[in-house]
Amino acid sequence: MSSQNRAQIGVIGGSGLYDPDIFLNRREIKVFTPYGETSDLITLGEMEGKSVAFLPRHGRRHRIPPHKINYRANMWALKELGVKWVISVSAVGSLNLQYKPGDFVVPDQFIDMTKGRQYTFYDGPVVAHVSMAEPFCNSLRKIVIESAERLKITTHPKGTYICIEGPRFSTKAESIVWKEVFKADVIGMTLVPEVNLACEAEMCYSTIAMVTDYDVFAEIPVTAEEVTKVMSENTSKAKNLLREIIRSLPEKPDERECSCCHSLKTALV
Ligand SMILES: [Zn+2]
Repeated sequence: MSSQNRAQIGVIGGSGLYDPDIFLNRREIKVFTPYGETSDLITLGEMEGKSVAFLPRHGRRHRIPPHKINYRANMWALKELGVKWVISVSAVGSLNLQYKPGDFVVPDQFIDMTKGRQYTFYDGPVVAHVSMAEPFCNSLRKIVIESAERLKITTHPKGTYICIEGPRFSTKAESIVWKEVFKADVIGMTLVPEVNLACEAEMCYSTIAMVTDYDVFAEIPVTAEEVTKVMSENTSKAKNLLREIIRSLPEKPDERECSCCHSLKTALV
């Protein structure tokens, strides 16, 4: 990878955030990976004087469903570009009445209910069992939470994200299990395996989960118009938040205060 095709920060855009126009000096590049095609071309650009690689998770015009996303190619490509921090943005449903549509959540835990994805870069002969006890980078989470506080965006600093396979939504029975038995707070379809691959690649990873509506347990009818309105407000808040987070990140990646960059130390068999 040539020296100008480098970025310190990776931004993975989710539902509602596909447009790289918030970054300056943009150029698109294709990164070839051992795992095939990334979701789209990667846009390299700048924000607050820092280099950023932007990738829309579902591709432009939202053409790739959650279960068909090539997570390994996406995360491998970001690592190849030199990314140290990955900030991912995703739309979620709420399983917790305190987490209201329009609120943001910075999850600290996840539950994996996906069924058939490519979960690891280590398919053998090298085997890796990375720790997922604390699955997100806590120092990056802290920066995200403090940035949201400064912008007065209603943000929950903790939460359990349950990731389902999709593309269908949950049944009412499932939704009640996720809420009452599993005690999950938000539900989505894309966090896993993005988060575990980031860990295997020793990149700091945090997600901004934007609540669009209550999951089906609530039996609160929502109109498409209401969801569209919340999503559009979420998108403009997310853009401001990204700028504040990127402004707040240390100038040099080496100033990271966390152990994410050593997660393979005890994981390789
Ligand atoms: Zn970290």
